[in-house]
Amino acid sequence: MDVSPIFTVQKHELAFNFPAGTSRGVLTTKKLWLITLSAEGKQGIGECSIIEGLSPEYINDVQYEGKLSEVIHALNQASLSEAELLDSLDLLIPDLLYFPSIRFGVECALRSWLAPSHGLFFDNAFARGESAIQINGLIWMGAPEWMQDQVAKKIKEGYSVLKFKIGAIDWKQEHEIIQQVRKHFGPELLTIRVDANGGFTAANVRQILNQLRDLNVHSIEQPVAVNEIDLLAALCKEAIVPIALDESLIPCYTLAEKVALLDRVGPQFIILKPSLHGGVSGVQTWIELATARGIGWWMTSALESNIGLTAVAQFAAEYPLNLPQGLGTGGLFATNFTCGLSLSQDQLTHHLPVHG
Ligand SMILES: [Mg+2]
Repeated sequence: MDVSPIFTVQKHELAFNFPAGTSRGVLTTKKLWLITLSAEGKQGIGECSIIEGLSPEYINDVQYEGKLSEVIHALNQASLSEAELLDSLDLLIPDLLYFPSIRFGVECALRSWLAPSHGLFFDNAFARGESAIQINGLIWMGAPEWMQDQVAKKIKEGYSVLKFKIGAIDWKQEHEIIQQVRKHFGPELLTIRVDANGGFTAANVRQILNQLRDLNVHSIEQPVAVNEIDLLAALCKEAIVPIALDESLIPCYTLAEKVALLDRVGPQFIILKPSLHGGVSGVQTWIELATARGIGWWMTSALESNIGLTAVAQFAAEYPLNLPQGLGTGGLFATNFTCGLSLSQDQLTHHLPVHG
């Protein structure tokens, strides 16, 4: 009897429910590839999710699918058990670390296959429905009135932490929006995080940080571009507003590169996205390095479908979480895969599928 694992891959495209304004322009659809592992009568699944223009390992579908086939072939040819495969992915496919989205998909397929119940990627209290994760609400960029509407809706829904994308339209307008929000909801009621996606420069960033500090903003993600290493280091030291690195983590693949970034820049926080920041194993390394340096972190999804999102949430729950995570669900896509996640106010929960 042939019991060797069989990996396959299938492309999917999801349509956004609204034109999603991101730092990479306006998106209308989202591409992803699902890796399925079938062996011994059960299946594992993992999502390879890319953001065009942001994921460095994605150039076009032909190139990306070529790499996927190569990885699938290597996995199918290896005479290793699933547990051995998970432990030796980097030996088997030495350049997999340069393809964090594919690494994440393979790791999830193996982990879900190895997990004791269907629907689990990680076996923990959250995944089993016994605890919840607090998340921040995300305010999408757009016309000021639309942004205000989103804020009112999120606060009514019960969020106490909101994240605003800034540095995209006009700062004066964005500043006014946050000022208005602060006028109605003081820091005891609402924590405000902002994400500049590298949108500011040496010429304006300090003035903006001072304005944000006056509004009691909790933290700012990526105030300036990734290549502004010295400026980022200076801003972290000045700590006008605590700095969180996000895009800066993307080009750090090896342990030495990760250590060098954290020690040179010294951020207050790092934002961890498994699809962009090294998959499960890469993010585990980031967390170890951050913890040893007293750097805070939270995990965030990166426009994954419900499959990848579920895996990220279960992964986050492997750690004691003392900060709200960036794991918003629902409403993003017109169609999505069914999953066990649900949201009540700002509390994300997961339940395992019930078998009749
Ligand atoms: Mg960000």
